[in-house]
This record gives sequence, structure tokens and C-alpha cells, in this order.
Amino acid sequence: MRSTRTAGAGRFAPSPSADLHIGNLRTAVLAWLFARSTGRRFLMRVEDLDDRTHTDIADRQLADLAALGITWDGDATRQTDHPERYDAVVDGLAGSGLLFECYCTRRDIAQAPRAPHAPEGAYPGTCRDLTDAERDQRRDETGRPPALRLRTDTTSHTVHDVLHGDYTGLVDDFVVRRGDGVPAYNLAVVVDDAASGIDQVVRGDDLLSSSPRQAYLARLLGHPEPVYAHVPLVLNADGARLAKRDGAVTLAEIGLSKALAQIADSLGYAARSVEAMLDEFDPQRLPRQAWVYQPG
Ligand code: GLU
Ligand code: ZN
Repeated sequence: MRSTRTAGAGRFAPSPSADLHIGNLRTAVLAWLFARSTGRRFLMRVEDLDDRTHTDIADRQLADLAALGITWDGDATRQTDHPERYDAVVDGLAGSGLLFECYCTRRDIAQAPRAPHAPEGAYPGTCRDLTDAERDQRRDETGRPPALRLRTDTTSHTVHDVLHGDYTGLVDDFVVRRGDGVPAYNLAVVVDDAASGIDQVVRGDDLLSSSPRQAYLARLLGHPEPVYAHVPLVLNADGARLAKRDGAVTLAEIGLSKALAQIADSLGYAARSVEAMLDEFDPQRLPRQAWVYQPG
């Protein structure tokens, strides 16, 4: 399915933590198909805030994507190229009184007393309303810099997902800047998508539950919410999420033509190139189940 050009853009945003495996490659192909079939530009963003030193891995990821036939508009961007972009947004939120310092460890959060109907996985609010004296005391006790959390005014938000329909999920007082000063994933993704005009977010469905927080923040910052498509993950023969250690899962290990054939087969296409898959692409016919990957 092809269509005429629109102003919007889709993207793929790999983290350079390890070489892409066949599941990541398939998600990238789907992101590209969704964007190109709707006339959108397609942008490539290396999410290297956490993996600043892995430029070799990032280069291999981009080379693998290009080898598959995925094309992107302009150069790939790197988050570490513009740290000021995140700082400006964090400063703006702080200036509006929307952030608070959080001194909790993961363990503090897991063990905190909760209201009887508090949603599962929500930040319990421990540091939300500390007095100045209490905050000074927490700072002295912990001896490390605090994370910054967003003071939200809701507990849930509904996003629209092409594959999941209306999806309502948790919005708690989530972290926007970590204690080590690194912008949090949920903030970075929203700021980067808005900065590059992304209006279509296609990614693995492990991130579906993060999308309400991100859409809430986008709206708070005055950005339009993107349309989402969270695509099924790829599982290994044991039913666990596919990982590099499963062996023979990267493009180098599988080989280009076989990897393309596996991706096409998993999507039910006869095509053997991404350009030809574009002619067969129909989001409503995508498999809704995880793809169980059988090497060989
Ligand atoms: N960098 C994230 C990952 O590799 C994806 C972020 C996103 O697509 O929003 O899992
Ligand atoms: Zn806290």
C-alpha cells in the first residue's frame, strides 16, 4: 500500500547496546513500511544517552538497516549531539513548578506503603510533598543527587494505537531526569520526536505501557500526540523475548537474503525486498501474535 506524501514523519530509534537481532530488524522494517506506506518521511535516531561510548555498535546497526534496504531522510541523528535540548525542557518544567526531587531508590519504591487502590507499578508519592526541612534531611541521608520527577495531575491517559485501538495506561509521577543527570527515556523520546516532527511512532509492544506517560508529557509540552503502532515482539523457542544470546540472530549471523525471507515470511509476504513488501503492506493484516523465531 503506497500513498501520496504527507508532512509527517515516522522513525526508528535503536539504542546502541548490542547488535540488532532479527526481532529488532523486523520492527525497523515495520516502522519503515508504516511510514512509507502513509507518505511520511522516515528518520533514524540513535538513542545513545545511555550508551555514549558504543559508536561502533551504532555504526553496525545503521549499516545493517541500510543493508536490508531501509532508507531514511537526512543523516541519522544522535541524542548526545544535543544535550541542551533536554536541559531546556527540564528547566522549563522546573520553572513551572512541575518537577520535584526524588531521593528514592528502587528498593524504597518497592517497599513504600501504598494507598489501597494505588495502581500497580506507580510511584508511591514519597517525595512529592516534602517540606524544605524534610528534603534537606533526605539529601543528607542519601548523599547522592536526586532524580527529578514530573508532578502529574492524573493517574492514566489514553493513546490511540493502530494495532491495539484505544489503550489506557498508567501515568504516575515519572522520572524526567535521573539522579546521574541523564535525561530519562520517557522525556528524551518525547522531546526528540517533537523536535523532528514525528507524528507516527512504530516500535515493539514492550513499550506500549510507556506510551500513556509519553503522550501525557507531549500534551503537557504543547506537542500533538503521535499515532502509535506497537508491533508484536519476537520470542525464542522457549517463549522468552529473543536476545542476542539465543545465537544466530543478527544479520551477520543469518545472512541478508535469509533474514529478509524470514522477516517477509513472518509477515505473510511473498516479497523478498522491503520495497516489494511495501506493495503488499496492509496494517490491518499484520499478525497480532508474537513471532516465535526458529533459527535455521
Ligand atoms: N531506543 C528504544 C529501544 O531501542 C526505542 C525507543 C522508542 O522507539 O521509543 O528500545
Ligand atoms: Zn522519591
